[in-house]
Amino acid sequence: MTNAAVVRVSGATKTFGPLRVLDRVDLELHSGEVVVLIGPSGSGKSTFCRCVNGLERLDAGTVEISGDRLSESGPGLAAVRRRVGFIFQQFNLFPHLSVLDNVTLAPRLVNRVPRADAEDAARGLLVRVGLADKAGARPGQLSGGQQQRVAIARALAMEPDVLLFDEPTSALDPQTTYEVVDVMEELATAGTTMLVVTHEMGFARRAADRVAFMDGGRIVEVAPPAEFFAAPTSERARTFLSHVL
Ligand code: ADP
Ligand code: MG
Repeated sequence: MTNAAVVRVSGATKTFGPLRVLDRVDLELHSGEVVVLIGPSGSGKSTFCRCVNGLERLDAGTVEISGDRLSESGPGLAAVRRRVGFIFQQFNLFPHLSVLDNVTLAPRLVNRVPRADAEDAARGLLVRVGLADKAGARPGQLSGGQQQRVAIARALAMEPDVLLFDEPTSALDPQTTYEVVDVMEELATAGTTMLVVTHEMGFARRAADRVAFMDGGRIVEVAPPAEFFAAPTSERARTFLSHVL
């Protein structure tokens, strides 16, 4: 367990009918590492994230979180899944609950944290995401970027081993995108282990330890951002970058 990667994916393969969406994907994230996953639409990035957090089952291959296998048969699929925080493009907050209740709900119900303790922790997390004054607001009263920052606080409240972000800013306008990217950079600097699917190449350059390029269900290239952006080795990555940069 001591030397285990936080996330270790080996040979991940997933088909939908005739379509092989993930084709023997290997990826490891070590503690404190930030990996940015990029690639064309339909290349399998979201499916990969969904498999890493157990929302989808692999046809072949394995996912381990901090040394524990994410599998139906193993002990406590739910317990292993709880170590993975997931931030989606759509924030999926509970509209009828306050911001504070959205953040404390899972710790209270799932981890049985007493309300006062959960609220103390949540207020600290709201400070961290720049929303200390919004604890009593409803999600509908917030901008998209503020809602996404609540979603980040909610994920952090479960003290996950790793945070997965699947295009967290794709539904946001440029101003609120910037606020969310700022929070993500702060998390990266603080040593949070993160797997981030994003088109924000500025974030990738500044925060990623490695950039992984996915195409046709395979990770075809993995490199530190300086290297990757300066000289991608695959033709597909060069073409992709010429469209996004
Ligand atoms: P990306 O996030 O890189 O855009 P996805 O993982 O969403 O890619 O999708 C990869 C491929 O898998 C696409 O061709 C998509 O249409 C297909 N796909 C994704 N989810 C499903 C599903 N539940 N059923 C059938 N096909 C799917
Ligand atoms: Mg996607």
